[in-house]
Amino acid sequence: MVAIDAHTRPVTLLGWPIEHTLSPQIHNTGFDHQDLNFLYTASAVPPDQIGEAVAGLRALNFAGANVTIPHKERVIAHLDAVSEEARAVGAVNTIVLEESDAGARRLRGDNTDVAGFLDPLYSHRDRVEHRRMLVFGSGGAARAVAYALLRSMRPERLTLAARSPEKAEQIVRDLDACDEENALAVRPIDEAGPDVRTSRLLVNATPVGMAPETEASIWPHPEDFNEDQVAYDLVYRPRETRWLRQVADRGGTPIAGLSMLIAQAAASYRQWTGRELPRAPVRTALTRGTER
Ligand code: NAP
Repeated sequence: MVAIDAHTRPVTLLGWPIEHTLSPQIHNTGFDHQDLNFLYTASAVPPDQIGEAVAGLRALNFAGANVTIPHKERVIAHLDAVSEEARAVGAVNTIVLEESDAGARRLRGDNTDVAGFLDPLYSHRDRVEHRRMLVFGSGGAARAVAYALLRSMRPERLTLAARSPEKAEQIVRDLDACDEENALAVRPIDEAGPDVRTSRLLVNATPVGMAPETEASIWPHPEDFNEDQVAYDLVYRPRETRWLRQVADRGGTPIAGLSMLIAQAAASYRQWTGRELPRAPVRTALTRGTER
């Protein structure tokens, strides 16, 4: 481990609450493994103090930060610039401090959930591209996933199966500019059976199945799954959810949320350090944290 000294570049997570995060484990494992003089901490920032927290990153010369609930949307107003992805999704999960030649410090926001979601999907591209797809949920993750799929997988149809269809309708309106083929559709979740059966890619972007409620499944009708389908669960604790097991039992291909968690972290890590996150030791370190 590199000694903490005057050259150490701090990075922190801004969230409220932050107790359950795996990000310090992920990034500090990478820093240790590569002997980088960086340190990752987690900061509990009350909802009304995100502006002060961001100003502090700049003043204290942090390398950057991650941002999580409830700050992902409101943080944008406090940054100097945001990426195209963050602008389209309306949420930032990564901040990078950049310094001009004149020494001015600038904070840029990005949304690495988009790249992180797509990373494990590329190896299944031939099976899902241009086909029907379905996303369960209408929250922040569903919005990032819908944007990523519209931009990179060209769905024939992309159904948002939502408990709150009005929230999904808002996503459809906000992503209109990316939806050149008018692929987006909204379905109340209890009417989504035909869409589930005919979609090549199914994505769970809700917390259903997350510990401790591990017996729950976002679609508890295994007869609707088939061997052509790819099922991608964003939930990463437990590593294999009941829903993924149900799809795999019917011959479908599961993708677990831990892959996205590591890939979105890698996309942040690259921007702070200029290095590739060493995924094998990170995966080993996380195995203990997500076993249950
Ligand atoms: P969020 O903004 O709170 O949205 C949650 C969504 O799930 C909402 O649409 C909510 O519907 C829906 N939902 C909750 N319980 C439901 C139920 N019983 N049945 C149907 N829908 C239900 O949360 P988020 O940020 O989008 O995150 C969603 C999940 O993705 C979380 O488990 C999070 O940990 C995970 N995630 C994983 C990664 C990764 O790297 N693997 C990255 C981002 C997020 P209502 O609007 O009706 O409440």
